[in-house]
Amino acid sequence: MAMMTPEQFEESLKKMTPRVFMNGKRVESVLENPNTRTVVASNKASYEWALDPKYKDIMSCYSPLIGGMVNRYTHVSAGREDLVKKAEAGKFTAERLGTCIYRCVGYDAFHALAATTWEMDQNLGTGYHPRFMAFLMMVQEKDLSVAGALTEPRGRRDKKTLDWPDPYLSLKVVGKNKKGIIVRGAKINISGAFASHELVVMPQSSHREGEEDYAVAFATPADAKGITYVCQFSPYSAEREMADDPYELGNPVYGQRETSMVIFDNVFVPWERVFHCGETQYSGKIVARFARTHRMTCGGTCKVGFMNQIIGAAKLIQEYKGLDRVPHINEQITEMVVLRETGRACGLAAAHEGAEDPPGSGVYLPDEIMGNVAKLNICNAFWRAMALAGDIGGGLVVTMPSLKELKNPEVKDYVEEFFSFGSEEPTENILKVHKLLQHWTAGLHGVGTWHGAGPVMAQKIMLQRVVDFKHEKDLIKETLQLINK
Ligand SMILES: Cc1cc2nc3c(=O)[nH]c(=O)nc-3n(C[C@H](O)[C@H](O)[C@H](O)COP(=O)(O)OP(=O)(O)OC[C@H]3O[C@@H](n4cnc5c(N)ncnc54)[C@H](O)[C@@H]3O)c2cc1C
Repeated sequence: MAMMTPEQFEESLKKMTPRVFMNGKRVESVLENPNTRTVVASNKASYEWALDPKYKDIMSCYSPLIGGMVNRYTHVSAGREDLVKKAEAGKFTAERLGTCIYRCVGYDAFHALAATTWEMDQNLGTGYHPRFMAFLMMVQEKDLSVAGALTEPRGRRDKKTLDWPDPYLSLKVVGKNKKGIIVRGAKINISGAFASHELVVMPQSSHREGEEDYAVAFATPADAKGITYVCQFSPYSAEREMADDPYELGNPVYGQRETSMVIFDNVFVPWERVFHCGETQYSGKIVARFARTHRMTCGGTCKVGFMNQIIGAAKLIQEYKGLDRVPHINEQITEMVVLRETGRACGLAAAHEGAEDPPGSGVYLPDEIMGNVAKLNICNAFWRAMALAGDIGGGLVVTMPSLKELKNPEVKDYVEEFFSFGSEEPTENILKVHKLLQHWTAGLHGVGTWHGAGPVMAQKIMLQRVVDFKHEKDLIKETLQLINK
């Protein structure tokens, strides 16, 4: 089958039966629930763009694996050019959606698993790589949306996995037979999984001897028996449930970022879908390669796209208010541009400096240092951009009335008059732009940006591991002709 049309994507989801709960109630249809629907809409856009002559160069590519065109979000980078396109796709989708493209974590997981299954087969004689490539081929041929799941509930962080009182706080293999494995546990904060076709599950962390049952990676249909989704629920979710018209909301069609806890209650996974099982020394490699890929994406591409939305809204409000020539506001906008471009530069540098890892695998990953720096920078840059936009937006960003008041005959005229800024712009537009800025600056995105792809300490630890300072020390020794003892 060729790439799916957006309509075929929706139809394909109708055939799935995920067990989903939100706000204490069962979600009967992820296509109809106003919150889960936003995930469907985001992924649907990726199908539309991949077929659109204007965007297909970014959103689709040739796959030698199946000998045809595929959605970029199903392709494993085989060179630096692919990594650069991957970076472009991250920015492109984020600035248009104003939220996640929910196929992204799975896309990055493909890179980690393609590389590490190859390495395991080389070093241990396992047969994981052909299995994984057969799975990837199926994903490409059917043009599936795949979510990626690493993060786990975990026990006390000052204790080791085997010392936690509940052995399932990390996902665990609880049974094996000729046909496959059985897993129990949960993954938390998982982006968009309930509206995907497949989940790719990886270990959250490195594992040591004795933890073999936790060293596991596999793929499963998103509606497999034993899987349950408990969705996030925030004031924004409640607001969406109550809206008469999505255009009352900051991001009408695509919403905030939707995640869920994914529970695996004795889920069976056939061997042909198991890509890592017991080789503790490789769990950390899967995680590190995933992080290397995902940090370029989160740090240097999608947040750059998000910042374009923030800058666009701040700029419009500046103009509505007649602040065009005010130096400190222009300086703030310029600061936002510099923060954005620094993020974009790190993302592109990570892609341009990418390398085959491990050599011989055919899998290209972004440069480790630049990818981590991209994410580290953006953690702080994003809060700063939010603060600057909040300053320009003024208190109205958080004090504005509901857009429903524009349809309330009792106050409609007052609202139109007193929120017009005396400008030519219709008040409805002014309020909509403020609402969009509320979505960014007073929503879930600050903490989400900080933690998505790992909090800052994770990047700092990685940088401390990777940079050994030999080069820098040698420079000084050479410059000063230091003598050896
Ligand atoms: C919007 C969003 C989308 C996400 N999507 C996905 C997804 O699709 N798939 C997925 O797998 N994950 C996803 N995540 C999870 C994300 O990767 C994690 O949130 C992130 O790794 C941080 O983990 P945590 O939330 O458990 O925070 P914690 O790990 O609890 O971190 C809280 C603080 O504790 C510190 N800390 C934690 N452990 C230790 C320790 N052992 N020693 C010292 N300090 C420690 C951290 O540095 C941090 O300062 C998403 C997260 C968000 C916010």
